[in-house]
Amino acid sequence: MAELDPSQIFALEEKLALFTPADRLRWAYETFGNRAGIGTSFQPAGIVIMHLAKTSQLPIPAFTLNTGLLFPETLELKKKLEEFLGIKIEEVHPAQTVEQQAASHGPELWKRDPEKCCELRKVDSLGKKLFELDLWITGMRRDQSAERASTPLLSLAARPDHSDVWKLNPLVEWSRDQVWQYLKDHHLPYNPLHDRGYRSIGCWPCTQPTQGGDERGGRWPGFEKKECGIHTKNRKI
Ligand code: SF4
Repeated sequence: MAELDPSQIFALEEKLALFTPADRLRWAYETFGNRAGIGTSFQPAGIVIMHLAKTSQLPIPAFTLNTGLLFPETLELKKKLEEFLGIKIEEVHPAQTVEQQAASHGPELWKRDPEKCCELRKVDSLGKKLFELDLWITGMRRDQSAERASTPLLSLAARPDHSDVWKLNPLVEWSRDQVWQYLKDHHLPYNPLHDRGYRSIGCWPCTQPTQGGDERGGRWPGFEKKECGIHTKNRKI
């Protein structure tokens, strides 16, 4: 595995910007091997990335943060994708079950303190997983929301001990339409909740359908919150 110099990040990003998404994934695998991992919550972009890796014969492992509060449709989609792509998607679980969290922090924490709930059920789980990785691949795209408009293609994130982990968003400049066209062209399974007006799908207590607007507008309705924290709390460069 090649050692990358963080001071070269901008030059590397410029180089990768000229690559196709499949070639970005090839670079990821050739550079980081099994220390690269695709994090997915089964949004359309994550499905495209897993499909690109598979069709490019790049055995990059995929994982998902199973908060214990995912829609049944999302869990069903995970199974379908595993069958369709012939891969296993690892589930990373929080330290506490939903019931244990209710006992220690009170019931339905997401209604009172979604920031804390996301920290316990998503941010901490991801932090644990990042110790196994040197490159975290995600489906973040700039056109998803105002908050994501300046998302880099390549960046550095931090593990919980503040050590560096590289982060690649291979579809960062893709539009929503491009992603959906890819799913259609390749007959890929997707979450049926999208057909019922859900544009971005997370945990069931914090996701609702929307009519247009920001793709992530239906997340945490009633709160200012726009991000769960996995992409914001560990940002480095
Ligand atoms: S999205 Fe909602 S239910 Fe899921 S971890 Fe965050 S606050 Fe909790």
